[in-house]
Amino acid sequence: MTHVSVDADRCVGHGRCYTLAPDVFDADEVGHSVVRVADVSGELERQAVTGAENCPEQAITLSR
Ligand code: SF4
Repeated sequence: MTHVSVDADRCVGHGRCYTLAPDVFDADEVGHSVVRVADVSGELERQAVTGAENCPEQAITLSR
């Protein structure tokens, strides 16, 4: 399993993560990212990697 976390201090709300990986990330009321599923594998892990790779702020950390 891979653990997914978002650094709220870095996230500025581009929305790329929850657009590209909607099963792993969601938006809060102001458009910042929240983690829907914190421990992922398989397809959800692939989505989490895509989200992390596409975050311009490097706000997403994956821990294996
Ligand atoms: S892509 Fe990065 S900065 Fe944008 S909402 Fe997601 S975590 Fe936040």
